[in-house]
Amino acid sequence: MTAAPASSNSTATDQRALTVLKSVWGYDAFRGVQADIVRTVSEGGNALVLMPTGGGKSLCYQVPSLLRPGVGIVVSPLIALMKDQVDALRQVGVRAAFLNSTLQAEGVREVEAALVAGDLDLLYVAPERLLLDRTLDLLARSPVALFAIDEAHCVSQWGHDFRPEYGQLGVLPQRFPHLPRVALTATADERTREDILRVLGLHGAPQFVSSFDRPNIQYRVANKEGPKTQLLDFIQAEHTGDAGIVYCLSRKSVEETAKWLQAQGVDALPYHAGLSPRERNLAQDRFLNEEGMVVVATVAFGMGIDKPNVRFVAHLDLPKSMEGYYQETGRAGRDGLPSTAWMVYGLTDVVNVKRMLDQSLAPPEVKRVEAAKLDALLTYCEAATCRRQVLLSYFGETLEAPCGNCDVCLQPPRVRDATREAQMALSAAVRTGNRFGAAHLTDVLLGRETDKVRAMGHHALPTFGVGREHDEKTWRGLLRQLVSLGYLTAGEHHGLSSTPKARALLRGEATLMLREETLVPKPARRERDR
Ligand code: ADP
Ligand code: ZN
Repeated sequence: MTAAPASSNSTATDQRALTVLKSVWGYDAFRGVQADIVRTVSEGGNALVLMPTGGGKSLCYQVPSLLRPGVGIVVSPLIALMKDQVDALRQVGVRAAFLNSTLQAEGVREVEAALVAGDLDLLYVAPERLLLDRTLDLLARSPVALFAIDEAHCVSQWGHDFRPEYGQLGVLPQRFPHLPRVALTATADERTREDILRVLGLHGAPQFVSSFDRPNIQYRVANKEGPKTQLLDFIQAEHTGDAGIVYCLSRKSVEETAKWLQAQGVDALPYHAGLSPRERNLAQDRFLNEEGMVVVATVAFGMGIDKPNVRFVAHLDLPKSMEGYYQETGRAGRDGLPSTAWMVYGLTDVVNVKRMLDQSLAPPEVKRVEAAKLDALLTYCEAATCRRQVLLSYFGETLEAPCGNCDVCLQPPRVRDATREAQMALSAAVRTGNRFGAAHLTDVLLGRETDKVRAMGHHALPTFGVGREHDEKTWRGLLRQLVSLGYLTAGEHHGLSSTPKARALLRGEATLMLREETLVPKPARRERDR
C-alpha cells in the first residue's frame, strides 16, 4: 500500500469522515485502508483501490462524495444493482439517483434536473450513458465532487469482464482533469492494474491494496465421485442447519440438486436465470431472512448479496476462472467466522469446460486469455501445495508460510513419481489414434475386452492391459490430471489426444510428480466403482 500524502487538513478530514460514517451509516470506525482512501479522495487526490469483494469499497467513494461539495458520479456496469444501491442510500438519507437504460424519458429528465441543480449527493451512471455527449455536457455544467469508477477491471481486455465502453473512460481525465478519480476493483492482476492506470490516467496516483486473504475460509477441493452424495455428507458432517450456497453449471443440475437436497431433509431452494423474477426474489428473500437456508444456484446468484453468515460455498462444477472462484467462495464468512469453500471436480468437468472454450465464438485473443485463466484454476485444483498460497499468488500476493487451513495443509497429499503410469495412459491414447474418450482408454489400460475394444482391435495393442495393477478410479483420476495439466487435450466427442507437451514424458526425458491418492494400488477384494 502507498501512504496518502500528508496534509495539514488530514486530521480535520479524518474527523469529518468519521462523523459522516457514524451519523449516516451508524458505523464506528473505518476498516483497514478505508480511512486512508477516504482522506486521499476527500482532499481531491486520485486513487486506485484493490479490495476483495465484501471488503467495503463503496464507502471509499460514498463518504468523500458527502464530504466534498457537489455530486459523486459512480460509473458502474452493474445496472441490475443500481436501483438497490440507490434505495439503500436513500434509506439512510443520502440524496442518490441513477441514470441507465431502465429509466423512462420522464425519469431521466428528473434526475438530470436534480444533477444540474446540485440536489444530489451520489449519481450512479451506466458507462454507455455517461459517454453520451449530452451527459458529458451536463456534467460539465454541474457541481461534481468526484468520479468513482467501480469494477474498474472492465477497462482491460485481459480482465475476465472486458466492457468496450469502459475502454473509452479515458474521456474522464481528458474532460475533467481537475476532478478526483477513484478506480475500484476486486480483481486485478498486474496486467489488468496497468491497463486501469493507463486508461483512467492514474499513473502516479496512490494505490491502496488490501490483502485478498480470507483466513477464516477453509479451502477444500476433492475428486468428484458422487457429487450429490459427497455434498450431502459434507453438509451433514459439518454444516447442518447452516446457510450455504451451492453452485452448479446448468439450470438442470441446479433444479435436480435442490430437489434432491430437499428430499434428504436439507432446506434448499433453486435459483437461476430461468426462474421468474418473483421466484428469484422469493428465493433471495428467504435466503437473506431465514436461518439455515441453502441456495442451489447458477452463477446468476450472488451479485450484490450481502449476507454475513453464509457458512459454506460449495462448487459442484468448475468455476470459469480463479477470479470467479474467488468471488463466489468470497460470499462465505463475511462475518469473519470459520467457513468452508468446498469443491468437487472430475475428468468430465475438465473436458467439458475445455471444449466449451474451444467451441466458443469469442475472438482468438479472448479465447487465449480464457484458456490461460482456466489453466490457472486447474493448477489450483491439482495443487499439492497450500491452496491459499496458490490462490493468493494468482492475485499477486505472497503468503510466506502454508496456511494451515486448507485441505492440503490439513491432510498433506503424498506425491509420488507417476511418470510410468502417465506414459502408459499417454501411449494408450496415442496407439488408439488419439480419438477415444477416457472410458475406452481405461478399458484398454485395464485389459477389458469390451465389444468396442474388440471391434477396434485394441486388445492386440501392446498397451492392452498394462495398467492392471491399478483400478478404474485411479486411471480416471490420472487421465483427469493429464488433461488438467495439458498433457492430453479433449476434442470431438470427448476424445483425448496427446499434446506436444506429452512428448518429453513419453520419451522418458521428463518426469511427472502427482498426488498419490489418485495412484493407490487396486484394493485386493473390493467391488469396483463403475
Ligand atoms: P465491496 O463493494 O467491496 O464488495 P461493500 O462496500 O458492499 O463491499 O461492503 C461490504 C459490507 O461491509 C457492507 O455491508 C458494508 O456496509 C460493510 N462495511 C463496509 N465498511 C464498513 C465499516 N467501516 N464498518 C462496518 N461495516 C462496513
Ligand atoms: Zn494451506
